[in-house]
Amino acid sequence: HELRLSQPGLLRTQCLIDGQWVGADSSMTFPVTNPATGDILARVPAMGTAETLRAIAAAQNAWAGWRGKTAKERAAVLRRWYELILSLTDDLGRIITAEQGKPLAEARNEIVYAAGFVEWFAEEARRAYGETIPSPVADKRLLAIRQPIGVCAAITPWNFPAAMITRKIAPALAAGCTVVVKPAEQTPLTALALAELAVQAGFPPGVVNLVTGDPATIGGELTSSPQVRKLSFTGSTEVGRLLMAQCAETVKKVSLELGGNAPFIVFEDADLDAAVEGALLSKYRNAGQTCVCTNRFLIHDSIYDAFAERLAAKVRTLKVGNGMDEGVVQGPLIDVSAVAKVEHHIADALDKGARVLAGGERHELGGRFFQPTVLAEVTPEMLCTREETFGPVAPLLRFGSEDEALAIANATEYGLAAYFYTRDLARAFRVGEALEYGMVGVNTGMLSYDVAPFGGVKQSGIGREGSRHGIDEYLELKYLCLGGM
Ligand code: ADP
Repeated sequence: HELRLSQPGLLRTQCLIDGQWVGADSSMTFPVTNPATGDILARVPAMGTAETLRAIAAAQNAWAGWRGKTAKERAAVLRRWYELILSLTDDLGRIITAEQGKPLAEARNEIVYAAGFVEWFAEEARRAYGETIPSPVADKRLLAIRQPIGVCAAITPWNFPAAMITRKIAPALAAGCTVVVKPAEQTPLTALALAELAVQAGFPPGVVNLVTGDPATIGGELTSSPQVRKLSFTGSTEVGRLLMAQCAETVKKVSLELGGNAPFIVFEDADLDAAVEGALLSKYRNAGQTCVCTNRFLIHDSIYDAFAERLAAKVRTLKVGNGMDEGVVQGPLIDVSAVAKVEHHIADALDKGARVLAGGERHELGGRFFQPTVLAEVTPEMLCTREETFGPVAPLLRFGSEDEALAIANATEYGLAAYFYTRDLARAFRVGEALEYGMVGVNTGMLSYDVAPFGGVKQSGIGREGSRHGIDEYLELKYLCLGGM
């Protein structure tokens, strides 16, 4: 289970500020642990205010040079970064599995997904078009151009240690912005490896900066700095709210990708086998620790038992273990509090009358491992359908009519991803349009692609990442009015 890499140089344990690899001023560090074994993998700098301010200053100083390059020149550097990332998919995947826990095959897929954003935005860099506006007066000419917003801060979570970084900073860099990244404290090694490859790709000093350390201190500096013009955050709704409030002081532009409470509706006319396959993919990927993971299944009365039986039978066969091991499809949860939350949600459901169809307990491997679980006879009063469980638990609710399913699905403050299965084309459109969610999967449990707009409505977030819209978050529209023509 040791972390063996073909390129050991990818394992960086210092931060990147102004093109230099540096430790914390205090020389203090904090440990990065392997959630499967509890082993300490490395120690990284515990940075704070002074280092963050230097990173912001470096990004500010580098901005003029970077935005002054042509889009094609910026794209060439991004393209090199993309190729380096892709060529090291295996090494980078191993780093993810070691510090985050997901199975190696999933980790490799994440690297390909992460690299995809870099490739996509390298291409989009050249398409930041403006517009000309028919003038309402004869002697003027009106136009709008799109310019990079400035220094951007990115605060990212541990569940996708690579993809959440590239999805934010590739469009920022393509647009001509410079960045300061603060990765999650659980998964800084993947972030530092990406930064090493960014240096190799040829981003000039100060264009990409990365600091690790106390979240509240670094976050406080990034959000209060008048030089930082934009914050992009992915994480919990709670922290997102706090950061948005902090950004209000300097009126920063924000993009937020927050929590979800994804419903997965199976209508009576669904292809049941396909629905079970989709359910497995959308629920147990990353041990249920993605913001687009299904949080509650809504199953039509007439097929409830058949669906429950087929899903539970498959779930009992899922192999749990160290993500480095062959055939493992579910790794450990990220930490002990994640395990405690899953246990709490199950206990609450059982208390209120739910039944366990599969799993239900900590895994015999101990530590942070939990059994993939299916719960039947779940009702909307139970915690597991109201809060994001972020673990391998599938709660199955019953519904009788389409209207009822929609009412339950929409009765949440969240609005990130939703899924449903039907073979009725009219229903596919009707329900797809009625779900109050930013993303809807119809007859699929997997919908994230670099080319598609990712994001939520309601308290699941603001803004979109990926797709041709993703770069807009890092561009300001400027209106030029030319008089005396
Ligand atoms: P999760 O529950 O997935 O860990 P968080 O929202 O706590 O979600 O974490 C997402 C990111 O936000 C991480 O990089 C974390 O360090 C950071 N973070 C947590 N608290 C704060 C804070 N008060 N200010 C700035 N960043 C924070």
